[in-house]
Amino acid sequence: MDEDVSRVLVNANEIKDRVAELAEEIDRDYLGQKLLLVGVLRGAFVFLADIAKKLKGRFIFDFISASSYGPVGTESSGSVKLLKGITDPVDGLDVLVVDDILDTGATLSFVTGYMRSKGAKSVKICTLLNKPDRRKVPINADYLGFTIPDEFVVGYGLGYNGEYRNLPYVGVLKDSVWKS
Ligand code: 5GP
Ligand code: MG
Repeated sequence: MDEDVSRVLVNANEIKDRVAELAEEIDRDYLGQKLLLVGVLRGAFVFLADIAKKLKGRFIFDFISASSYGPVGTESSGSVKLLKGITDPVDGLDVLVVDDILDTGATLSFVTGYMRSKGAKSVKICTLLNKPDRRKVPINADYLGFTIPDEFVVGYGLGYNGEYRNLPYVGVLKDSVWKS
């Protein structure tokens, strides 16, 4: 696992500290409001769990599954499919969409539109990572962990062919892993 990683971009301690800061910001901004956290499966599951454990305010959470990627590989197809929609009622709630990474922006622009169409009172975005160089849709995160260069990363929820999601840091895979 670790031996497949060539470089760590964000280590576990940096993530932990930033997650705590983000949770504080979110608590402050939504003081006295009940929040609906919506995690985008599958990449957001680790980040959402860690954020949720740090939040002190009232919230409920749900998951949706949307994907702009095929089942294999590293290139976004650009078209977003909703694989699993929301199950809890959204009407009148403040929604915070939590995802692993803002890349081309296609997924989060689709998901935020979907949450508005479900009757959300407000919709904001929280992502762990941002790759601004890759953006195709003009969209920004309201809460952002780290800006990273245009490299395919794994770990802390992000996978390659479904693996590496359990790494406690965000890193880049060795070239030999792509080619094998
Ligand atoms: P977008 O729709 O913004 O192009 O892509 C968003 C989704 O693509 C992310 O939620 C994530 O699941 C996946 N993705 C984008 N960049 C990376 C990356 O560097 N590594 C991994 N593992 N997934 C990525
Ligand atoms: Mg994702």
